[in-house]
Amino acid sequence: MDDPTPTPAAIELIALTKRYAQGSVAVDSVNLRIASGSYCCLLGPSGCGKSTTLRMIAGHESTTSGDILLENRNITALPAADRGTAMMFQSFALFPHLTALDNVAFSLKMKGVDKATRHRQAQDLLERVAMGHLAQRKPGELSGGQQQRVALARALITQPRVLLLDEPLSALDPFLRIQMRAELRHWQRELGLTFIHVTHSQEEAMALADTMVVMNHGRIEQVGAPREVYNRPASEFVARFMGGHNVLATTQGKVAVRNDHIQLAPAHTGASGWPATVSDVEYQGTYVLLGLKLSAGDGTDDNSVSVMLPEATFVQQPYSPGDAVSLSWAPWQAHTFPPVLDVPAAA
Ligand code: ADP
Ligand code: MG
Repeated sequence: MDDPTPTPAAIELIALTKRYAQGSVAVDSVNLRIASGSYCCLLGPSGCGKSTTLRMIAGHESTTSGDILLENRNITALPAADRGTAMMFQSFALFPHLTALDNVAFSLKMKGVDKATRHRQAQDLLERVAMGHLAQRKPGELSGGQQQRVALARALITQPRVLLLDEPLSALDPFLRIQMRAELRHWQRELGLTFIHVTHSQEEAMALADTMVVMNHGRIEQVGAPREVYNRPASEFVARFMGGHNVLATTQGKVAVRNDHIQLAPAHTGASGWPATVSDVEYQGTYVLLGLKLSAGDGTDDNSVSVMLPEATFVQQPYSPGDAVSLSWAPWQAHTFPPVLDVPAAA
């Protein structure tokens, strides 16, 4: 008979809360369902509670209250090793003196699994990430991408259902970081596992995630696919944090307008719109980024607005610092924020 119930969430957090001793609430009653087989990114500024959330899922941090379910099984009180999760650490954290094979087999060795068995399992996993032929190399003899695959194989040796990654790419140089994130995405799809990846980089989250979870002060501000979050930020915080938006106070209230949705005209053309002065011009290749100051303050921030013009548009009508302009946007490009549902704070 067909099972009428949908696939269980890989991870479900129910009113998950962490209060550190003498500290404020690091994670504040978080509710979240993460679909099985998806790539989920927890995104937010430093200190918003991403790592604490991840460590509670991993079992490396106790919970203050709330529950954690893994495929409908309550794992809140289980030791880390019995949860069905595995953690991949920043910069891979491989043992430099061990071969790739011994790095992967390490946790089985700790569990007392005999050498032949643990080496066979480690070799199988290295084959799965196309590293079988380099099993005898030490980390120092491998490229960054190869090291990441060894780290992945090592995390997979315990046969986790969910892989947890805390800022795995943030110590890498920008070029390698972009290469490595494409690899992570590839292996997540290839292995069909659920990944939960913590990052403070909007760009990284947008590149990787099926689902982005934007956090602020221990709470979730928005959950959605990257395009949804980018195009329909749920709050002023999300719009500002995601970048690429101007939050402006209009007569109707605050709106977010993407910086590539704003049109500029030189003031002398008499075009209607908000008067502003160009403050800086940055060439960025396909786009030119202009910083502007509104002449009549709109009451937000420091009255600065950013505008991205396609290079060709800018070449047709260039601007320099000091130019008086008028800026406008189509009404449907002004995104209003949904009303905030005020959840009463727990006493
Ligand atoms: P993020 O990973 O988003 O940068 P964290 O989860 O590490 O944030 O931290 C969330 C909040 O909890 C911060 O205010 C941080 O200072 C605090 N915090 C984190 N770990 C501890 C700890 N072990 N003891 C006390 N406070 C902590
Ligand atoms: Mg962190």
